[in-house]
Amino acid sequence: MKRAYYIQTLGCQMNYSDSERIEAVLNHMGFRKTDEMEKADMVIFNTCSVRQKAEDRVFGQMINIKKLRKQKPHLITAITGCMVRTTSHRHAENRDALLRRSKETDFVFRIEDLPKLPALIQACWGDTVPTDIHEANLKNYFNINPVYSSTAQAFVPIGTGCDNFCTYCIVPYSRKREKSRSMDDIVNECTRLVENGCLEITLLGQNVNSYGLSNLDKKTDEFNDMTTPFVDLLERVDALKEKGLKRLRFTSNHPKDLSDELIDAMARLETLMPYLHLPVQSGSNEVLKRMNRHYTADWYRNLIKKIRSAVPGIAISTDIIVGFCGETEEQFMETYTLFEDIKWDMAYLAQYSTRKGTFASQHMADDISAEIKSKRWHRLNKLLIQSSLQGHRAFQDKDVQVLVEQCKNGVCKGRSEHFKTVVFHADKNMTGTIQTVHVTKAREWQLEGELTKR
Ligand code: SF4
Repeated sequence: MKRAYYIQTLGCQMNYSDSERIEAVLNHMGFRKTDEMEKADMVIFNTCSVRQKAEDRVFGQMINIKKLRKQKPHLITAITGCMVRTTSHRHAENRDALLRRSKETDFVFRIEDLPKLPALIQACWGDTVPTDIHEANLKNYFNINPVYSSTAQAFVPIGTGCDNFCTYCIVPYSRKREKSRSMDDIVNECTRLVENGCLEITLLGQNVNSYGLSNLDKKTDEFNDMTTPFVDLLERVDALKEKGLKRLRFTSNHPKDLSDELIDAMARLETLMPYLHLPVQSGSNEVLKRMNRHYTADWYRNLIKKIRSAVPGIAISTDIIVGFCGETEEQFMETYTLFEDIKWDMAYLAQYSTRKGTFASQHMADDISAEIKSKRWHRLNKLLIQSSLQGHRAFQDKDVQVLVEQCKNGVCKGRSEHFKTVVFHADKNMTGTIQTVHVTKAREWQLEGELTKR
């Protein structure tokens, strides 16, 4: 019987996309996937390190691993994702700190070292047959064909790492410097996907709109002649509409890198959906400076104006951190006012928590009490409920196109062009198809509607 693996993924879409590549390697090695940790012979945690909570959850899970190991002494456990600094196993001289913290972990690997996974497993289970996946480097990591979790939708990474060093963020240390994937590689992966029936592609990266412009990218010849490589990439992927691509999205963006050319492309390219995620983090110039974000609140306001005038009706979401080091009541109120002005369709609100290894953790005091953070979070959340409802009401009594993601017990759920969650009844499974739905009810967090008869 084939050995089984279980992967638990925490964090952003990038981690989910990475897990699809891990699956491909393990399937290639002859393992089978299980959705129950208890049935696994190997457990891999692919975790986020942006939030301390994700890390705590992984260490919490180690209690279950310890229990499981009593029944299954051969069980192996690994950690990958942003928490890992050095690919290593428990007996290595240069061990990652995670291996010292967790006795239950057998090895850890940086996601860029995914091609080393077979060798790491073989070191634990000597009887495992190695595969022909070659040496570890970024190019090979991207070259591993993932096991896509859906045929209609796919997340395609276009680069990794980040050069921005926001003071609260661990990504530039964990994923290292920003490096873009070759444009031909990306377009080839997208083409294969579309030829196999993929309708929606989301291009992924920590900072997609600086694609091809990082210091490491400048050292390669590939992007030399391009002034707006991300727009060039979007144009090439958009051309796949001839082969059947219906929707193109990208995330995440840094406001400072959102060029006029990109705004123009958003208005012009047929498959680009009218939705943009543009993290603001704070509405206070002082706080933005301490966060090292390189823009002001008014600059962000103007950017939103430009985008909304180029793409009328576009849905825009954001990320906001409340209670960042030293955030005064007045500074919080500047975020509150910005929220009232912009009325984001969606906002992912976080209460600041120190992330070990970041600039803020070493040089700034986490001096806002949990109570104040929570109060500020709730105040913004109230605004969010109003603005989200208002955004949804714009679709009341209108038809929207929904790419159906799941159907269960006669209820289907999917996303509209504007990335709104839409729910409707259907007597058959429509997963993976695009349906026209007439919106009958706008709620805070979703639209409800009826399938339009064709
Ligand atoms: S842009 Fe800032 S928040 Fe985003 S990944 Fe880079 S350092 Fe982190």
